[in-house]
Amino acid sequence: MSARARRYPLDLGRLGMPTAALPAKREPVARRAVSSAHGLGLDSQAVRARMVQRLRAEGVLCEAVLAAMGQVPRHSFVDAALAAQAYEDTALPIGLGQTISKPSVVARMLSLLFEAREAQHGAPLGRVLEVGTGCGYQAALLSVLARQVISIERLRPLFQRAREHLAPLRRDNLRLVYGDGRAGHAPNAPYDAIICAAGGDELPPAWLDQMAVGARLIAPMHSPAHGSQVLLVVDRSAQGWSHQCFEAVHFVPLRSGTA
Ligand code: SAH
Repeated sequence: MSARARRYPLDLGRLGMPTAALPAKREPVARRAVSSAHGLGLDSQAVRARMVQRLRAEGVLCEAVLAAMGQVPRHSFVDAALAAQAYEDTALPIGLGQTISKPSVVARMLSLLFEAREAQHGAPLGRVLEVGTGCGYQAALLSVLARQVISIERLRPLFQRAREHLAPLRRDNLRLVYGDGRAGHAPNAPYDAIICAAGGDELPPAWLDQMAVGARLIAPMHSPAHGSQVLLVVDRSAQGWSHQCFEAVHFVPLRSGTA
């Protein structure tokens, strides 16, 4: 996947955001140890290691993200009937018309969050808000990469299933919330990173408000200029917000309310 940022205006002016984008950075990231694998089942480690090798060969360079993906058992987040495909680079159904994103897209989004944090602050991720828990796979990865994770899901059956998937991993720093993530989650704000796994037409203002200074947000967003969804990255500095658009993606829609 191209690492170059393609920039063009989204309708962010309405939110009072400056349109100047930061240059896309591909800073080398120091090899670092991620949190202990304690509690993360190590079944299928060889298959996961091959998935990680493929991701690295395809240009995922963030060692922390690769190490997390080498630990978290993706197969235990999907139906047993789909487990054999869990380490292929493919999106898989998780019920109620939703999907778990393919590993390369998950790796891409997490790298964009993690590398920026390391490059700018020399520190790993602090407090992260995830919108769209789905099956809980990406939430598990985030809990390895960040100090604290709040993950919100609007569909109760998925929220409950994610809780079951995540229970054996015993990630004490991960909290699941049932609700409409378009409002963010004010009780734990501000966040050092916000990541959304569902695509909308506009950024919910609450997300911008709940970003700490120095925070980064990443979300799929419909771009009228391209007639497709793109990965949108927003950075907040002391001067305000700036954004960059990356490659086209295909995510399930960001919806209102709960069900
Ligand atoms: N990261 C997830 C991907 C799930 S797909 C995983 O690893 O499985 C996106 C999820 O976003 C779906 O479960 C969908 O129900 C949820 N979603 C969509 N709109 C939402 C909203 N407003 N608030 C919270 N979750 C939402």
